[in-house]
Amino acid sequence: MIDIQHLSFAYPGSKSALLNVAELRVSPSEKIMLRGPSGSGKSTLLNLIGGILTPDSGSVKVCGENLTTLADAARRIFRINRLGFIFQDFALLDYLDVAENILLPYRINPALKLSLETRARLLRLAEALGIADKLRAYPDKLSFGERQRAAIARALIADPQLLIADEPTANLDRANAVITIELILKSAALNKAAVVVVSHDETLKPFFDRVIEMSQFTHAAEARA
Ligand code: ADP
Ligand code: MG
Repeated sequence: MIDIQHLSFAYPGSKSALLNVAELRVSPSEKIMLRGPSGSGKSTLLNLIGGILTPDSGSVKVCGENLTTLADAARRIFRINRLGFIFQDFALLDYLDVAENILLPYRINPALKLSLETRARLLRLAEALGIADKLRAYPDKLSFGERQRAAIARALIADPQLLIADEPTANLDRANAVITIELILKSAALNKAAVVVVSHDETLKPFFDRVIEMSQFTHAAEARA
């Protein structure tokens, strides 16, 4: 699902590499937690996996595509068609109802074609996530949990093979963090998608198949600096 080899990445203008990833492999349907302190490059690594950033050297293969050899436009289409992103603040639009928020990827990305099958999928997802009766509601009328479910449905609507969540529990208390993680993992399982969740919460480790520590990627960078 993900196969990174000998990756090195530095932001323009910085003297040393932020990340050096000798190897990182994630299998289909695997549930991964990516853990490390603030500033350790977690979001940067997600952007490399999503093809938003490209490495200075090494290769990034995701869902069988070698992102490092794709042109910008092809990488963008790859991202739209194969990946689902859940944002920390959900990024729902207040002036769209829940159904329109979930279908937003189809409105903004010409690579996705809205069909009757998409609408059927919207209903199935809304039912599975328990928000079928909220599809005509606006985000400001929803509970926190309902907004979160709408954001997860949006990440899943285009049938991604990889679901990525960047610190989805950062602003939550323990009980809600557990509910959120369980919901993300259950939702990914609906799709048989692999999952990469960024968190610095040690106590969430038992929910995942594997925990990847950022320190192994950044210590190598420091050693070479
Ligand atoms: P994390 O998600 O683990 O908190 P980030 O990947 O956001 O870490 O950032 C890692 C480091 O890269 C930080 O020192 C941050 O300041 C720097 N950084 C992030 N984005 C940029 C950017 N667009 N340009 C330059 N430096 C950046
Ligand atoms: Mg981050």
